[in-house]
Amino acid sequence: MRSIVWFRGKDLRLADHQPLAAGIAAGEVLPVFIFDPYFFAPERAVQMGHRIQFLLESAQALKAALQARGSDLICLRGASFDRLAELSRAWSADRVLATRWSERFGRKRDDSIASRLQVPFHVFEGETLMPPGDILTASGQAFRVFTPFWRAFQRVFELKAPLPRPERLPSLPPEILALDEGIPGLEELGVVANERLIRGGEQAAWSRLDTFLRGPADRYVKGRDRLDQEGTSRLSADLKFGLLSPRQVWWAIETAEARPGGGAAFQRQLVWREFSHHSLWHWPDLLERPFRADFEGFPWLEDPAGWQAWVQGQTGYPVVDAAARQLLVEGFVHNRARMIAASFLTKHLGIHYQRGEAHYMRYLVDGDWAQNNLGWQWSAGCGCDAQPYFRVFNPTLQGQRFDPAGTYVRQWVPELARLPKRWIHEPWNAPESVLLDAGVTLAKDYPKPIVEHRAARARFLATAKAHLAQRKGLSP
Ligand SMILES: Cc1cc2nc3c(=O)[nH]c(=O)nc-3n(C[C@H](O)[C@H](O)[C@H](O)COP(=O)(O)OP(=O)(O)OC[C@H]3O[C@@H](n4cnc5c(N)ncnc54)[C@H](O)[C@@H]3O)c2cc1C
Repeated sequence: MRSIVWFRGKDLRLADHQPLAAGIAAGEVLPVFIFDPYFFAPERAVQMGHRIQFLLESAQALKAALQARGSDLICLRGASFDRLAELSRAWSADRVLATRWSERFGRKRDDSIASRLQVPFHVFEGETLMPPGDILTASGQAFRVFTPFWRAFQRVFELKAPLPRPERLPSLPPEILALDEGIPGLEELGVVANERLIRGGEQAAWSRLDTFLRGPADRYVKGRDRLDQEGTSRLSADLKFGLLSPRQVWWAIETAEARPGGGAAFQRQLVWREFSHHSLWHWPDLLERPFRADFEGFPWLEDPAGWQAWVQGQTGYPVVDAAARQLLVEGFVHNRARMIAASFLTKHLGIHYQRGEAHYMRYLVDGDWAQNNLGWQWSAGCGCDAQPYFRVFNPTLQGQRFDPAGTYVRQWVPELARLPKRWIHEPWNAPESVLLDAGVTLAKDYPKPIVEHRAARARFLATAKAHLAQRKGLSP
C-alpha cells in the first residue's frame, strides 16, 4: 500500500505521528509538505514572520531527520489540492494521510480535499489529547466552564504510550525525489530573520522539555506565575507546530524518574489548551464574535494614541510595556504578562480585544487561533469561563506581586533599570531625587502613565455595566 503522509505544520515530528506510523505499517510512504500561498505567499508570510521562521526551521529539521532514515520530505509549492492530486497521480498513491486541523477553515479544507481527491483521504488525531468535541456534559452538551471540563477530562482520558520514532523509512524513487522544490528561504518570503526567536526542530523541542523536567517542573505551582523566573516549559510553540505531541509531553510527566512536584498543575494547563480547542470546535465563530452574546456591539474605543503606546511598550506602566516589547523582540510573552497586557488594552484603554488578538497573532511564535482567542476573550471578560469583566488587573500590583524585584521590567524596559525595586513598578510616584539618581526623566526617558488606573477602571466598569444592562433590556 502506498501512503502519502502529508505534513501540515501542526505535526512536524517523526515520533508519535499517527499518519506516519499508519503509513509505514501498511507499506511505502511518501512524506510531503506543501507551501501553499494561503500561508506562504510573501504578503501572507510577512504577517506572521515569527511563526514562518520557526516553521521553516522545523521543516528543515524534519527533512534532515527523514533523510537520515532513508526517506525525504518532498516539498512542493502551490495550491495544496492541486499539488497533492498531481503527486498522488505521479506516485500512484493509494491514499493520503494527515493530522487533523480542527478549526473551521481546516475542516472545510479537509472536506473539500476528501471530496475531490481520487484516492481516500484519512485524517488522524494528534493535535490534542482528546479529539475536540469528545468531552461532553452528562446531557451531551459542550462544557462552558473549565473546572468541570477538567474533571470530566480526568475521568475519560486514557493515556497510551506515544508511538516510537521510526528507525528507517522506505526509500523514495528518483523520479519522486526529483519533484522536490525545496524549502523556501525566509528572504524569498519577504520575512526578516529574527535571531531572538527560540529554535525550531524536534530536537530543540525535546531539549526544552528536558530542561523543564530537570528543574522548573518541580517548582511549577509557584514558579509558573513569576515573571522574573524561568518557571514554565516554553513548549507552547512546540505544541503549536507539533514538534512534540501533547501526549508525549503528558507521558514525559507521568514517566519522569521522580514525578515533578508541579506535574499535576502543569497537566492542568495542558488541559486549558484542550479546553480552548474544544471550545473552538463547538463554537467555531468564536474567532469572529464574543462567546458572551451580551458583549456583542460593545462600545470599544478607537484611541489611536493609546493603541500605539500599547503596541510600542510606551504606556507608562512598566510591566505592560515589558510585555509589549518582549512580544516584538522574542515573539513570546509570559502567560501572566499576556493576561496583564490584554487586560490593560481591553479594560484600561477600552480597545477591542480583537485588535490585541490580531496583534498577538502577528508576532507570537506560538500564535494559535484557539488558545490566543481564548486568552483574549478571557482577559476581556467576554469569553468562555472568562475572568469576570469587573475584575480589572491593577498593573502596578500585578508587577509588584509577580516581578517583585523588577527583574522582568529591567530586562525589557532598560531605561528604568537603575530604579530601586520600591519604585520600579510605579516610577511616576518615585521622588525626584530617586529618579535623578536612576537617570530617569519622566516624559522624556520614559512616559508618564497614559491613563490613571482608578479612572480607567471606573470608565470601563461604567461602560460595561451600561452596555450589559442595555443588552438585557434593563436601564443602566
Ligand atoms: C491574551 C493571551 C493570549 C494567548 N495566546 C496564546 C497563543 O496564541 N498560543 C498559545 O499556545 N498560548 C496562548 N496563551 C496561553 C499561554 O499564555 C501560553 O500557552 C503560555 O504562556 C506559553 O508558555 P509556556 O509554554 O511556557 O507555558 P506553560 O505554563 O509551560 O504551559 C504548558 C502548555 O500548556 C498550554 N497552556 C498554558 N496555559 C494556557 C492557557 N491559559 N490557555 C491555553 N493553553 C495554555 C500551552 O500549550 C503551554 O505550552 C495566551 C494567553 C493569553 C492570556
